[in-house]
Amino acid sequence: MIGRDLLGIEDLDRADLERILETAERMQEVGTREVKKVPTLRGRTIVNLFFEPSTRTRTSFEIAGKRLSADVVNFSPTSSSLTKDESILDTARTLDAMAPDAVVVRHKVAGVPKRIADALAAPVINAGDGAHEHPTQALLDLLTVYQEKGRIDGLSVTIVGDVLHSRVARSNIYGFLKLGAEVRVAAPPTLIPPAIETLGVKAFTSLREALDGADVVMALRIQRERLDGAYVPSIREYSATFGLDRTKLRFAKDDAIVMHPGPVNRGVELSHDLADHRPSVILDQVRNGVALRMAVLYLFAGRPVAAAQEG
Ligand code: ASP
Repeated sequence: MIGRDLLGIEDLDRADLERILETAERMQEVGTREVKKVPTLRGRTIVNLFFEPSTRTRTSFEIAGKRLSADVVNFSPTSSSLTKDESILDTARTLDAMAPDAVVVRHKVAGVPKRIADALAAPVINAGDGAHEHPTQALLDLLTVYQEKGRIDGLSVTIVGDVLHSRVARSNIYGFLKLGAEVRVAAPPTLIPPAIETLGVKAFTSLREALDGADVVMALRIQRERLDGAYVPSIREYSATFGLDRTKLRFAKDDAIVMHPGPVNRGVELSHDLADHRPSVILDQVRNGVALRMAVLYLFAGRPVAAAQEG
């Protein structure tokens, strides 16, 4: 994986996914030490290039880089100045001149990390592009499920909510299917992409049917301004039909876990109670995000310098 870009889970195979998850499990140990730092990426520079706001993802890439002793630079230009192809390439060239060892990119437009990757020598890690992919979110979700359930093969995973606009859903669909889970999506018909079943998932407009026998229930964030009126009659109605609470969760397996990529709209996609307590594992997802991103930086941007030093 060294020197490769991480643009989407679609590009990875099962062996890649397993390797990343195993490495992340080893990285978790560093987070339990009193001094949470290893010299793995000393002398290397990681640029966080976030054109779109982010809390968890940007922070955890920064912590992950620092725990590996890399120098981490945060660069957050406004998205509007960089929607044109030419200005994106200018930014990429400017960055290239600073010789980073990895560039982590988030942009509201799908495909921008790929355009930057094509123009840069350094590996590019996609931290979320439009409604396309958010690979490190899916990887940390896979890690969380693996550690909760002891396996992914054969599990039944139900993704609930705005699948149409969700890069988290897309990346998770690829990831869970590649590792042998069954994936269902549940949403009002307007929020289910027309050809979703060609990816190998089953689509439901009945939450009850979608949850039947689920081991994992993943709620997606609702973007109120985009949904109200245009895709669903009202947020209140959406919440009554697809918002998860303990009563609706009874349709899933007794030991089902609940996930959410954050930020949670409390009382909309998850009840207040479920947002804060088991069986939701939201804070485990956030915690695992750091170790997972350490693994990604190590595997995609790590070894050439170490190898050169050894040689
Ligand atoms: N934080 C996730 C993302 O950036 C989920 C969300 O914002 O809805 O895609």
